Amino acid sequence: MSAETKSPLRIPPMIQKTEKQPASAERREVLETNPWHMAMQQLDRAGTKMNMEPLVLERLRHCKRILTVSVPVRMDDGTLRVFEGYRIQHNLDRGPAKGGIRFHPQVSLDEVKALAFWMTMKCSVVNLPYGGAKGGIICDPKKMSIGELERMTRRYTSEISILIGPDKDIPAPDVNTNEQIMGWIMDTYSMTIGYSCPGVVTGKPIDVGGSLGRREATGRGVFYVTRELACARGFDLRKAPVAIQGFGNVGSNAAKVFAEHGCKVVGISDVGGGLYDPKGLDIDEIMLYRAKNDTIADYPKAEHVAADKFVELPCEILVPAAMENTITAENAPRVKAKYIVEGANGPTTNEADRVLNQRGVVVVPDILANAGGVTVSYFEWVQDIQSFFWSEKEINARLQDIIVKAFREVEEVAQREKVDLRLAAFMVGLTRLAKAVRIRGTFP
Ligand code: NAD
Repeated sequence: MSAETKSPLRIPPMIQKTEKQPASAERREVLETNPWHMAMQQLDRAGTKMNMEPLVLERLRHCKRILTVSVPVRMDDGTLRVFEGYRIQHNLDRGPAKGGIRFHPQVSLDEVKALAFWMTMKCSVVNLPYGGAKGGIICDPKKMSIGELERMTRRYTSEISILIGPDKDIPAPDVNTNEQIMGWIMDTYSMTIGYSCPGVVTGKPIDVGGSLGRREATGRGVFYVTRELACARGFDLRKAPVAIQGFGNVGSNAAKVFAEHGCKVVGISDVGGGLYDPKGLDIDEIMLYRAKNDTIADYPKAEHVAADKFVELPCEILVPAAMENTITAENAPRVKAKYIVEGANGPTTNEADRVLNQRGVVVVPDILANAGGVTVSYFEWVQDIQSFFWSEKEINARLQDIIVKAFREVEEVAQREKVDLRLAAFMVGLTRLAKAVRIRGTFP
């Protein structure tokens, strides 16, 4: 151990301030749903359990680079609007930064910081040679034309081009961003440097260096994790009704893969509302319906459920695959699922996590459950760099290997240390990360 690691820094834990000055109920509620606060509490919890030296924890309490950009866009009506965007690299100790880009009206600096931190942890849990990053623009893409979206994406790419690059920081899709948007990022970056650079971004269309299986990867990973969970905890997956919140990239593909494997998907939802059928929903038909309609909420052949009541549906497995904070201390006591597999990032507040743990509900945390996306993004990046592309069968088999291995490692720690899966996943991720932080030391 180096002299530095022996001399502990005097760093107050994140929560000390709140303990000294009892927070008002309102402030507590704001803190409960603040993603960065949530993330730092999770880090503190794992750090305390592992007796981790302050040097490592203090490094992870700070994002390495935070870039705020203004993104001027000529709108279709001739006016100019300036959007605010971010690109944040949380940690680079294990490799280049990796993380998605989100377009949403509720994007905030604290949200992007937390999402970047969770990417650092996620890449470490599944042992990919990456650090964590995230980006976002505060905008409502649903109210923008294709032309406006393209101009905004290209200008944002140009603004963050001082940070991104195939060896530095590789963006990917997240909420409200898709293959076409990744294609524009790849093209804009390539135009800037003067040659085609597919490895700068993942989740691209296949025709410009995208990977087979990337579109379905996060949902497929959610399924692989759930199948391992069923095996480890001894329940029959085919007899366990599944409800999936969110019908975007993660939710719809998870629903498809669960259904393909003979599981009964009894509930699905999007921002407009939810659908429920205890006999099982026809996912293929609902996907066709969604292709022609803005929301699945009006699909006629199922019971309709309010979006905010969805997590309370009768089911055995609940997959939140929409946004943060959909399972809170308020609704957690009414959750009926025995297992929650977090397709989304940060869907369960820490307060809700405590309630669920007390009730014996098993939660597979985001940093493990939705790691299938970044895993196949890693495959895409490797294929781009080698200019040699793999078959879909090969990709899915490699994805399965990585996810199964990571689940078993986390489950083993959970059983050995008698802790929940979130803490176990943090312990696995933090162990690897701490090694890299220690080996690299502090420059200069
Ligand atoms: P997306 O934009 O494709 O889909 C989001 C879905 O959530 C939409 O169906 C939307 O209608 C729904 N939604 C939004 N608010 C909702 C609400 N309050 N209640 C119910 N549904 C709501 O986004 P995505 O890429 O599927 O991402 C979903 C989540 O998964 C995010 O937390 C994201 O960070 C995480 N994630 C995504 C990937 C990926 O590869 N895309 C990988 C890992 C994690």
